[in-house]
Amino acid sequence: MARGSVAIIGGGAAGLMTAVLLNGATVYDKNAKLGKKILVTGNGRCNLTNANLTADCYNHPDFVSRYLDKYGYDYQRELFEKLGILLRVDDEGRVYPITNSARTVQDVLISNADCIFDSNQVHRIERDEVGYTVVTDSGRYHHDIVVVATGGGSDILDGFGIKKISPRASLVPLECIERYKSLDGVRVKCLATLYRDGEQIYRERGEVLFRKYGLSGICVMNMSAHIARDTEAKYRISLDILPDISLDTLTDMLSSRRADTALYALDGITVRNLSEVILGRAGVGVDDYESFVNRAREVAISLKSFDFTVSGTRPIEEGQVVSGGYSIDEVEADLSISSMPNMYIIGEALDIDGLCGGYNLAWAWISASIVADSINAKI
Ligand SMILES: Cc1cc2nc3c(=O)[nH]c(=O)nc-3n(C[C@H](O)[C@H](O)[C@H](O)COP(=O)(O)OP(=O)(O)OC[C@H]3O[C@@H](n4cnc5c(N)ncnc54)[C@H](O)[C@@H]3O)c2cc1C
Repeated sequence: MARGSVAIIGGGAAGLMTAVLLNGATVYDKNAKLGKKILVTGNGRCNLTNANLTADCYNHPDFVSRYLDKYGYDYQRELFEKLGILLRVDDEGRVYPITNSARTVQDVLISNADCIFDSNQVHRIERDEVGYTVVTDSGRYHHDIVVVATGGGSDILDGFGIKKISPRASLVPLECIERYKSLDGVRVKCLATLYRDGEQIYRERGEVLFRKYGLSGICVMNMSAHIARDTEAKYRISLDILPDISLDTLTDMLSSRRADTALYALDGITVRNLSEVILGRAGVGVDDYESFVNRAREVAISLKSFDFTVSGTRPIEEGQVVSGGYSIDEVEADLSISSMPNMYIIGEALDIDGLCGGYNLAWAWISASIVADSINAKI
């Protein structure tokens, strides 16, 4: 059965935006509604892009940088404004719909997409003489052009021999060897530094959330993106809980604090369950004020170099994005697959992932726009 020229497989952020930018397409998605995942983004607020969009926030900066002049932040802001979504930018450049509701983004994209929606899982795509046949439970449909927008960890093209980078969790909490059950749920604003095989590779100031298995929070999720890119290496995270105070100043400050116990001496600096751990690492008993004064430098070191050895990532389902996917080596500049005429790969299905802050949805919009421009020029 013929269904017109363009099939979009996957109606998530990237597929849905492609449908918005084309004049007619069939979107296949196994979900009952298009754009379902958009609803969970940005804690329901949808951090849809970043005003400081730069290529170095992606795993393949050189690849992404070719597109930023044309499809960067200014283009995206205009695109959303044309669709009628007013935007709000926070202090860190994260961009949200002014409604603070991800549903706004889903609703507006759906109402602007001129498409047939087939809510069936696509089991496979077959190459036919003049294009492709999309096979679902409801039938077999011919299309001249296919856009693969099936998201991270997709296997829909595996039968075509297209190189794939194995999927790994990214923007995901990290499991660590050092575990402190008593700290589960405690948050600190700190300076977090990531070391790969002993060498510093990333540093971010922000909030870290202690979990019983290790560490979470935006800084840590961003570190997981670096880890996903080289899983063989050994990683250590060092937290400086008081980054604005030097070690010498902190040592002097601690040694002159007056209190009945070592634990009380840290009141006003850290919350008590964190103080207990900090003192334990410095070899100071919670009741031992004298030792606190004598070992003030060790306590200061414990506060400024709170070290964690990364033992792994949490499961892929806990990640915000999948690192890996179909290789960028397989696509042309317009994201068409070199070996498969008129077939494109966009969004997370391609091996592009970014840091927290709107970069992943930004890639969904960028890649959708590249492909829509290419298709619109053909038909
Ligand atoms: C909790 C959470 C929060 C996030 N927050 C943010 C954020 O604030 N900002 C940001 O930039 N990014 C965020 N992300 C990441 C962002 O959601 C993704 O990068 C983005 O959705 C990728 O878009 P996509 O269209 O490529 O894939 P997806 O959104 O995953 O869409 C793929 C679609 O394809 C469909 N599909 C797959 N296979 C088939 C098949 N065989 N047949 C039919 N349909 C199929 C799926 O049902 C799905 O709808 C977050 C992710 C999560 C999980």
